[in-house]
Amino acid sequence: MSALVELDACTKVYRVGSFGSGRLTAVDDVTFDVRSGEVVSLIGESGSGKSTIGRMILRLSPVTSGAIRFKGEDISAFGDRRLAEYYRHAQGVFQDPFSSYNPVYKADRVFALVKNAYFPHVDGATWRSRIEASLEAVSLDPRQVLHKYPHQLSGGQLQRLLVARALLLDLEFLVADEIISMLDASTRIDVLNLLGELKANGLGILFITHDLSLGNYISDRTLILRRGVVVESGRTADVFGDPRHPYTRSLLAAVPHLHTKWGPGTTTEARHSPTTPPALVTVGPGHLARVAQ
Ligand code: ADP
Ligand code: MG
Repeated sequence: MSALVELDACTKVYRVGSFGSGRLTAVDDVTFDVRSGEVVSLIGESGSGKSTIGRMILRLSPVTSGAIRFKGEDISAFGDRRLAEYYRHAQGVFQDPFSSYNPVYKADRVFALVKNAYFPHVDGATWRSRIEASLEAVSLDPRQVLHKYPHQLSGGQLQRLLVARALLLDLEFLVADEIISMLDASTRIDVLNLLGELKANGLGILFITHDLSLGNYISDRTLILRRGVVVESGRTADVFGDPRHPYTRSLLAAVPHLHTKWGPGTTTEARHSPTTPPALVTVGPGHLARVAQ
C-alpha cells in the first residue's frame, strides 16, 4: 500500500510574545505517513502539537520546514484550483463541532456550501438524495436534523453532520481531531463505529486524541507525540503491548486515570532539554522509539 498522506521532516515554529520575538517549536521534525484504509492515531497530551499537525496537513497552517505530500504531490505547491480539488479529497472534523457552524443559519447550510463550491450543476432532487444517503451513512435521520438550527442539535449530531458533509465530497482522507472527546458515552461508540466503516471503505484517517484508550480501540498504527516530537511509533499493538519509550510507558501507567483530563502545567516545562534527545531507532518491525542504543 502506498502512502496517501506523507509528512516528511515537518517542523512548525510559531512566533509568540508581544512583538513576535519569541519562537515556539510546536512540531519538531515529524515524519510519518497514512495509507488508504488505515487509521493512524496521533496521541499526546494537550499542547503537544497534534492539532498543528492536523492543520498543516489540511493546509490551514503552513509548515515552517519539511514537506507534506498527498499522493506524492507537495501540497504547498497547490494553487487555488488544485487546493479546492485537494479539499474534495481531504477534510477535517475538529473537536468542537459548534465552532464549525454559524449559529445564525440552519445547520444544513453546510451542505449548501458544499453544493455551491463543488456541485453547482447537480439538480436539486439529485442533491437531496445524496444528502439523505450521506446522513444515512452517519446514522442520522434527515427528518430530525435538516432545517434545524445548531442549538437545536446535540454535539454528537453536529459532529456527524460534519462527517456527512465530508462524505458528500470524494473523501479519501479525514483528519479527526479530538472528535470523540466531547461526546457522551453513548454517542462515542457510534462515531467510533462510523470511523471504522469509513476505514473499511478505504478512507485513510488521522485520529487525533489525548485519550490512549480511544487510540488503542481504533487505530492500526500509533504515534506518540511529546512536545512536538515523535517519541515512539509503530503498530498500535506493539506500541501499547511493548512500549519502549519512558514517556509511552508513563502514559500507559496512567491509564486508570485516563478519564480525568491532563491538568494544566504539564506543558509548561522547558521544551528542550539541554541534552540532545536520542534519535528514533528501530526497536522492532515497524516499531520506532527515541531510546538510547
Ligand atoms: P495540541 O493539539 O496537541 O493540544 P496544538 O497543536 O494546539 O497542540 O499546540 C501546540 C503548541 O503550539 C502549544 O504550545 C500551543 O500553545 C502552540 N500554538 C498553537 N497554535 C498557535 C498559534 N496560532 N500561535 C502560537 N502558538 C500556537
Ligand atoms: Mg488540539
